Amino acid sequence: MKVYLLLPFVVLLSCNTVKKPAQAQTAQHFSKAEQQLLKDVEVLSSDAYEGRKTGTKGAEMARTYISNRFKQIGLKPIPLLSGYEQVFSFRNNKGVEIFGKNILACIPGKNEEIIVISAHYDHVGIMNNEVYNGADDNASGIAALLKFAEYYKNNKPNYTLIFAAFDAEEMGLRGSKAFVEKPPVALEKIKLNINMDMISHNDKGELYACGTYKYPELKKYFITTDPKIKVLLGHDDPKTGHEDWTNQSDQGSFNAKDIPFIYFGVEDHKDYHKATDEFQNINKKFFIDAASSILEIINNIDKERNLKSIFREKLRMKKQ
Ligand SMILES: [Zn+2]
Repeated sequence: MKVYLLLPFVVLLSCNTVKKPAQAQTAQHFSKAEQQLLKDVEVLSSDAYEGRKTGTKGAEMARTYISNRFKQIGLKPIPLLSGYEQVFSFRNNKGVEIFGKNILACIPGKNEEIIVISAHYDHVGIMNNEVYNGADDNASGIAALLKFAEYYKNNKPNYTLIFAAFDAEEMGLRGSKAFVEKPPVALEKIKLNINMDMISHNDKGELYACGTYKYPELKKYFITTDPKIKVLLGHDDPKTGHEDWTNQSDQGSFNAKDIPFIYFGVEDHKDYHKATDEFQNINKKFFIDAASSILEIINNIDKERNLKSIFREKLRMKKQ
């Protein structure tokens, strides 16, 4: 009993006399928004979420978390849907029907043309009694998506933005395929997909943007102010075989519909698709800087009034 009574005194004493631990000092350097960004990854990649495999309790928990964050930010569902969820189903390679759910919301812009900002929230679940937490893959993309949603809620965008947290990417881009097959908005209004998948783990400060090989018109928007992050253009030349990432995450579903895309991601790392892809192993400072740089690039694009002209699209619509 005495020990417990003494404890507050000891803590108080140590606070006054001992220097603050290094960790606390680091934490103080993070702004509120940065702490939220990290918290979103930490929660979604915690063991309680059981690796967020499509169709499991962990995936359901992830949906609840993302939906609650959407609500907290004040995002509206897409008008054609009654809520945030878009349900779909597919058959896996054993012929079993699996149900998935995308979580979608939108922020109306000053015009009706749409940019879809996406990240998948599912991962591969539990294997051999180990939780594959998927911190980088892809709690990081979801956390950045939430950060951007919050930013644009407070800073009205020119383009209408759809925030799409896709399910079942790990089972073959199923959520994004369902989205473009049964789009809750007119597909021709979608001018660009910006997809994020693994943006928090790179020791060299390198983030790749894939898509400008096919859409070189987008290159001019890659102006960022943070020298600590190298945004490299690449992994999108079809001649490079498996090094071409064009169809390796959800942007591939948009590409299949000839919708321009940018995919942000890092090179595979030692924890890729391993149980060690955990919160403690992501590069926190890199992640914060990467998310900010992506937001800068999205802002550069959003300032462009005429995406039609970027993609040299024939004017299909009558002048209004
Ligand atoms: Zn992924």
